Amino acid sequence: MKKHNFSAGPSILPQSVLEKASEAVLNFNDLDLSILEISHRSKDFVEVMENARDLALKHLGLQNKGYQALFLQGGASMQFLMTAYNLLEQKAAYLNTGVWSDKAIKEAKLIGDVVEVATSKSDNFNFIPKNYAVPSDVDYFHCTSNNTIYGTQMHKFPNTDVPIVCDMSSDIFSRELDFSRFSLIYAGAQKNMGPAGTTLVVVKEDILGKVSRAIPSMLNYQVQIDKESMFNTPPVFSVYVSFLTLQWLEQEGGISSIEKVNNQKADMLYKEIDRNPLFKGYVANVEDRSKMNATFNLVNDQLKETFDSHAKAAGVSGINGHRSVGGYRASLYNALPLESVKVLVEVMQEVERGA
Ligand code: PMP
Repeated sequence: MKKHNFSAGPSILPQSVLEKASEAVLNFNDLDLSILEISHRSKDFVEVMENARDLALKHLGLQNKGYQALFLQGGASMQFLMTAYNLLEQKAAYLNTGVWSDKAIKEAKLIGDVVEVATSKSDNFNFIPKNYAVPSDVDYFHCTSNNTIYGTQMHKFPNTDVPIVCDMSSDIFSRELDFSRFSLIYAGAQKNMGPAGTTLVVVKEDILGKVSRAIPSMLNYQVQIDKESMFNTPPVFSVYVSFLTLQWLEQEGGISSIEKVNNQKADMLYKEIDRNPLFKGYVANVEDRSKMNATFNLVNDQLKETFDSHAKAAGVSGINGHRSVGGYRASLYNALPLESVKVLVEVMQEVERGA
């Protein structure tokens, strides 16, 4: 029996995707060749890349709106630098909601001036700052929509005329948003889209070409667009499995359908965290809670061994919190079934009954 996989990333993928991916490792598209041993320029793979890029835009409602989708390498971490390299001429504004925003800020400072509009750092990022202003004289505003480590999520984005750049690594394709409000979105695949190894970048083409510096080819969005994500050998398998996951999402009814299930999962777990006297949530304000990563602690640490052993016996895997927060973190990505959340809630209730 497969475990209930609450891992924060790399994380659970749909079973049907794993099966199709396994088949393709042995025999891709009835070519009698493995997907791992064919040219990335072969017709069969070029089709995968094109379809994956189209489908990503389709899910986000961004087809024929001046956007391009790219599958790049270097993880979301490479995007911390690449966004600044391509877009930062003088000054950019950043909202600092966690370690990943902090790292993005650090890279951007290598390129130009950074205004940190607000931060929750002094409270170990347990809330999303509000009531900040985005200056009008910046090249762009950067934010992280979901803070994987702390379990906070932005449920509102600022109204601003400057381009918004957003790290959506841990909640891409999980909820409906007006994605056309963002000029650039990036996301490492390994949470809601596929295995590690590729990063989705969705960029509005008209924001490019405005900086005066020379941009190295591998870091240049325009080069990557012109070469259709194949300036160099792409991470073929990772793109393929991401494509299968995007197809799975389509079969599930797209973002609007999966969002309903995601809401049910998050509601069920937070309800139990709030009800069960043994547990408390990590996030300070209920309205900032993430629907993708639910962080919580035991009120009494002495119950840790008991809780852990009950969880293990029930097949619950990957709920340890990030080392900088401690406690527990249950990641509820698209592919996690409601059933797994039920099992976790039952474990919490079992421990309560025994305590
Ligand atoms: N941003 C967010 C929100 C993340 O959760 C992560 C990884 N956990 C990263 C960026 C870094 O991603 P990568 O490891 O792909 O560079």
